[in-house]
Amino acid sequence: MNPQLQNDLEHLEQALTAACEQSVEFLKTLADRPVSPRPPVFEPDTLPAEGWGVRKTFDFFREKYLSGISGSAGPRYFGFVTGGTTPAALVGDWLTSTFDNNTADKDDSSAPYLERSAIGMLRDLFGLSDSHSGTFVSGATMANFVGLALGRQWVGKQLGVDVAQDGLAALGPVTVLSGAPHSCTFKALSMLGMGRSSLKLVPCLPEREAVDLHALETALQELDGRPCIVIGNAGTVNSVDFDDLEALARLKVDYSFWFHVDGAFGGFAACSDRFSHLTNGMDAADSIAIDGHKWLNVPYDCGMQFTRHQKLQTDIFQNRAAYLGFLTDEPEFFHLTPENSRRLRALPAWFSLLAYGQEGYREIVERNVDLARLLGEKIEASTTFRLLAPVRLNVVCFTATGSATAPRLQELLEELRRDGRVYLTPTVYQGTPGMRAALVNWRTSQHDIDITWQALQAAAATIIQS
Ligand SMILES: *Cc1c(COP(=O)(O)O)cnc(C)c1O
Repeated sequence: MNPQLQNDLEHLEQALTAACEQSVEFLKTLADRPVSPRPPVFEPDTLPAEGWGVRKTFDFFREKYLSGISGSAGPRYFGFVTGGTTPAALVGDWLTSTFDNNTADKDDSSAPYLERSAIGMLRDLFGLSDSHSGTFVSGATMANFVGLALGRQWVGKQLGVDVAQDGLAALGPVTVLSGAPHSCTFKALSMLGMGRSSLKLVPCLPEREAVDLHALETALQELDGRPCIVIGNAGTVNSVDFDDLEALARLKVDYSFWFHVDGAFGGFAACSDRFSHLTNGMDAADSIAIDGHKWLNVPYDCGMQFTRHQKLQTDIFQNRAAYLGFLTDEPEFFHLTPENSRRLRALPAWFSLLAYGQEGYREIVERNVDLARLLGEKIEASTTFRLLAPVRLNVVCFTATGSATAPRLQELLEELRRDGRVYLTPTVYQGTPGMRAALVNWRTSQHDIDITWQALQAAAATIIQS
């Protein structure tokens, strides 16, 4: 054995203890770290001929990179839609790497059982019926990819074409209809060979990001019976608007379409009696995409896809080989997902779901929404800022009053980054440049909203009012 490898093996406990101590130190100071430290440009490292061993490598990492690591897992990183990691999820994630199991074979590990079990608990969390099966994928982009692949296969089946077998060329164009889909939908359609232009945007209701049902029905009528895919959006990134999913599902009585729901983070509205009405109708979907690394607060590399049509899923993703065994009624995950070998991605979610339960997630969701509304109230009462959309759930979409141009807002966001207490990202809402604060972190408290408000006012005083 290589001497460095041998030495690290002999001192494994020391190496892991150092990693643990570093983690504890990082997490203890997370709330006070600059949320977005703006690291310098790093020179790439050179592959050493003789390795350094883990200890020296760790020292080098600390010295060069650690201070540039973002506080994105902390309570005031409101950019994009970025969750953190609960203590139980972190334990699950560490152990995932420790065990380094593939979730392939139920005969050689409990790993696949853990994944099925986690999917079952998530089904309960989202109020989905047993007709939905599911798997873990790397994020909501891949969960949407799987759902749309299923839709593509279903459309083919209606027209007598097996797309998985004969390719999309045998089927021709597939129309996808949606009101305000997430940008990753276009990416998924590109990867699926259906093309970005297969997505026909349907008008939304006035001042809303929810699809206009009459416009959708007209678009469906124009297809003249040709089956298509309809994407229902359960939580848009700017204003967390929801399509009327029940009404979308009802349209299936008269029109032939695959009903896919993107509930990446909005699906978590189902956790709370106060907001679950927003997800009514989600269970009727043929496929659903939800993100784990957002409101579930598990580390990155976690999305979930659900479907009522597992058989179609094996048509697409099956991977048969003599050494891989047979395709049964309870297919292995590699017959269901884009990847073959996969880490035990479910374990952080499994730990966190058992550790905090339905109540734990209800509390996180409700607290985040209440705090988003609190920030919204401060904004509405101020003369410096104004809301661009009502705070429907957990995102505050706002802009500066007066003639705040996009470059001016960009300066304001830069000033906030220099300040280091809070991180927001820019957006454009209904043609108006603005910014957004998305609250999905389990740590965020009222104190953080106070700090955020102070930081926003200070930045505005420097940039807007100067
Ligand atoms: C975040 C998000 C996605 C994409 O998720 P990734 O995890 O970044 O792949 C898709 N749809 C919606 C509504 C989202 O918020």
